Amino acid sequence: MKTFVTFKYEKVNMKHRSVNQRITFIGFMLTVFWISPLLYSESTTTYALVSDAVIDGISAKVLKNKAVLVNRNVITAVVNESEIPPEALTIDLPGTMLMPGMINVHEHPMIYKHDYQNGHLEASSAYKALLGLSNLQNLLLAGWTTIRVMGDADVFYAVQDLKRIIDEGVFSGPRLTGAAHYISITGGGGDINYLSPEQHVISDGLIVDGADEIRKAIRKEIKYGSDWIKIMVTGAFMSVGDNPKNVSFSPEELNAAVAEANRQNVPVAAHAHATEGINQAIIAGVRSIEHGSFINQKSIDLMVKHGTFLVPTIYVGDYYAHSGKLREQTKNDEFYLSLRASWLKLIGKAHLSGVKIAVGSDLCGPMIESSVCAREFATLIEAGMSPMDAIKAGTIVGAELLQWEDRIGSIEVGKLADIIAVPGNPLENISALEQPLFVMKNGQIIKNELGQ
Ligand SMILES: [Zn+2]
Repeated sequence: MKTFVTFKYEKVNMKHRSVNQRITFIGFMLTVFWISPLLYSESTTTYALVSDAVIDGISAKVLKNKAVLVNRNVITAVVNESEIPPEALTIDLPGTMLMPGMINVHEHPMIYKHDYQNGHLEASSAYKALLGLSNLQNLLLAGWTTIRVMGDADVFYAVQDLKRIIDEGVFSGPRLTGAAHYISITGGGGDINYLSPEQHVISDGLIVDGADEIRKAIRKEIKYGSDWIKIMVTGAFMSVGDNPKNVSFSPEELNAAVAEANRQNVPVAAHAHATEGINQAIIAGVRSIEHGSFINQKSIDLMVKHGTFLVPTIYVGDYYAHSGKLREQTKNDEFYLSLRASWLKLIGKAHLSGVKIAVGSDLCGPMIESSVCAREFATLIEAGMSPMDAIKAGTIVGAELLQWEDRIGSIEVGKLADIIAVPGNPLENISALEQPLFVMKNGQIIKNELGQ
């Protein structure tokens, strides 16, 4: 199991250590995992991060011979290496490039099974939360410093507790935002459609019908901490008994959803595959289209006109195609494999037309190795984005979608110090993003495999 603590334990074989060494080790663990966040806030040490080059998330080219200075939790300067102040603690990261911490704007960190609807029925909220925390810690180690949760197949609101406990510094983890639930119609992609009518279960999504029920669900989501609203505008690929080519909500329901959320200054993310659902959601005023599998030219024009972001989540389709891991494997494969080639062309076209595309992996629950999530970058390049634009999609563009671009998403003076170092040159080999060697979140060093 990949918990944060056992991750370290695996590297130190306790059985062959003396008692003193064990005590020292336990002290070290307390320092690293519990006390250090508290002590850190007292520290005035300035770190100087020195690597081969810097991708700052803004510039078109890499910056050479630069050092990034960090004090407390903020980037205080980007200076020439010769200008590093003598009091700074230099952290040498040879053979790497620095870049902003990665932002994943579509994830379900507590969905712990490939057969996720049965998984939802089989586990308590607490069990999902504990697995989710372990998963989030591994995602942070893999370089994901910010994650937007798009509903988490949980009856309660455990993801809000995860956000709280991370914000309070009790556990390390990515900074979280997002929605506790996805909102679906009866029989839609967030409902459980494979049980007999006699069975009454609480579905993985929040089931609503009609404008009034949508409003009430949104008010409840916001009441319990969701800072995004996620609605299932169309059917889904992996759920049972619905059709991704069908539009679920009526325009009246969509308008009510966006009006209610926006009235409370909360943006809406729309899961949408069917063309008509995508286009209706954009017109209704959602901030992002999730997946957008059957976008057409009209969708692209509408997204440009309305400033709507697109979060295509491509790699999850590749991962599951022909995998045999899904309850609805045949349905998924029939839709996904038939659309992939034309869809990627349209994603490339949307990018060229000025649609803002952000990275969402939609894949990395506890059952997935965390490094896999960064494969989304390669699929965006396959769709026609340059490697630099793909990296921006997973950093500064993600921050813009979250409306956090003044805080995160780039290596600039005044921003929170969410910084990673990846091996080699990711512009030549994007898979470098799968294996960051150094991770800093909010000025705290989470991982440094280069030794300091
Ligand atoms: Zn999703």
